[in-house]
Amino acid sequence: MEEKMAVSRNFIEQIIDTDLAEGKYETICTRFPPEPNGYLHIGHAKSILLNYGLAKKYGGKFNLRFDDTNPTKEKTEFVDSIIADVKWLGADFEDRLFFASNYFEQMYEAAVKLIKKGKAFVCDLSAEEIRAYRGTLTEPGKESPYRNRSIEENLELFENMKNGMYEDGAKVLRAKIDMASPNINMRDPVIYRVAHMSHHNTGDQWCIYPMYDFAHPIEDAIEGVTHSICTLEFEDHRPLYDWVVKEAEYEHPPKQIEFAKLYLTNVVTGKRYIKKLVEEGIVDGWDDPRLVSIAALRRRGFTPESIQMFVDLCGISKSQSSVDYAMLEYCIREDLKMKRPRMMAVLDPIKLVIDNYPEDQIEYLDVELNLENPELGMRKVPFGRELYIDREDFMENPPKKYFRLFPGNEVRLMGAYFVKCVSFEKDEDGKVTEIHCTYDPETKSGSGFTGRKVKGTIHWVAAKTALRATVRLYENIIDESKGVYNEDGSLNLNPNSLTVLNDCPIEPAFGNAKPYDSFQFVRQGYFCVDAKDSREDALVFNRIVSLKSSFRLPKAE
Ligand code: ATP
Ligand code: MG
Repeated sequence: MEEKMAVSRNFIEQIIDTDLAEGKYETICTRFPPEPNGYLHIGHAKSILLNYGLAKKYGGKFNLRFDDTNPTKEKTEFVDSIIADVKWLGADFEDRLFFASNYFEQMYEAAVKLIKKGKAFVCDLSAEEIRAYRGTLTEPGKESPYRNRSIEENLELFENMKNGMYEDGAKVLRAKIDMASPNINMRDPVIYRVAHMSHHNTGDQWCIYPMYDFAHPIEDAIEGVTHSICTLEFEDHRPLYDWVVKEAEYEHPPKQIEFAKLYLTNVVTGKRYIKKLVEEGIVDGWDDPRLVSIAALRRRGFTPESIQMFVDLCGISKSQSSVDYAMLEYCIREDLKMKRPRMMAVLDPIKLVIDNYPEDQIEYLDVELNLENPELGMRKVPFGRELYIDREDFMENPPKKYFRLFPGNEVRLMGAYFVKCVSFEKDEDGKVTEIHCTYDPETKSGSGFTGRKVKGTIHWVAAKTALRATVRLYENIIDESKGVYNEDGSLNLNPNSLTVLNDCPIEPAFGNAKPYDSFQFVRQGYFCVDAKDSREDALVFNRIVSLKSSFRLPKAE
């Protein structure tokens, strides 16, 4: 039994199990370390839920730490949005919200320690020269002429760097490791640079800033992080991570573990591209529902539960692979299916008049909110002489097996009565403008009528009591058929990625809908009240996902 459980654990859990069994750590601590230079996307959600999930599973801790050691691109706007996203996903960091920039002093001290141990030196080579000296994958690098400066000289120069005596780029501090190492990251990497720039947190206090590879292990070590989980591109940096932790002599060295990034097909996730889409006004912000930033997914109507399900289905792996967006859609459908009401909205209305129904009568029908989940209760649906139905539910000359409305045919109006089409009207262009029916009062839903059967059931909204809504339909922002990029490197945009339908009749039970509320529009899909543009008297819905999918869960082995 125990063996079986171990097998079903992912490779990160296996590492943690071993570390705990061997007494390497007593309890675990993980972290999510975003750089506040953009909004988080679905890939980050995977990292957040992975790190948080592990901490929870092992009774450990999860920290949120901003990796804000680079003063150029960082903004407080992003800090706020990231905190909101992490909280929304349910990854509870309690009171452990940290900023790497609060450790600048300790990083400086760690650098001084390395200098004192003869493990770091101040180098005057330019960035270009450093690159040229670095060598290649096949050739070793060349040692810097400044490599053998005395410890005293290095201490003095580094202090001068800190005191602002040099221009940007004039000097750097480098780790003294091995210019012949087969791993280029170990060839005396730069660990501090001069940059006379204001920082969003520390202002002008510092004019030297640590490099990522030096700062990150120190941040982890300071916080007592045990398992520092990152993505595969850092695999080659791990020897340097370990070197820094060892040489800076931290008591409980953290351990770096890499996993494969999550890639979604046919969606743009790179910050660079999203930024471009935002700046060029192609989308209406980082939370445009066509994007897969977490803010966009939330606005579109995805739930934290659906994203958790998605991440769980993706699993954790060491090899790069892409996941179809359809799997994310599957997850939101599964999540909303039983939870949310199913109500009627007409997206392409055409008027239907019931000739034998009393002119001014409105009757209120009791209809279940969700047929599959009676616990959600009932709603009142007004029914009257004039209704709207969807244009595609009527055909003048139907093909075989069309069971919806056509002259002479009878269908059920969902939750109401059978109606039979007796005539219709067209305008000059041949467009159908009105359908006339008769109804049979005997056939009321729930009345136990068994006299005859109909093959089609269609949805409808009573004209007199209808509310009107704006409904937005989405397609991929990228034209799938031709690939993500054009030859010139620009994004291959899909011109139909947004369709706006105005004045769609919806039933009055929608009247209480609040931002982020989601519903099934029967036969049409799942829709969510847009939090940015919707008003109480002018509802705007985003389609989260349609009802049908070709996606099937892979069979369990
Ligand atoms: P991007 O390049 O997509 O904008 P990033 O890696 O630059 O992302 P960071 O803020 O540095 O963004 O990332 C924070 C954390 O999220 C890191 O630990 C990173 O490894 C992880 N992460 C980023 N992208 C993905 C992804 N696609 N899948 C899983 N984890 C990711
Ligand atoms: Mg990054």
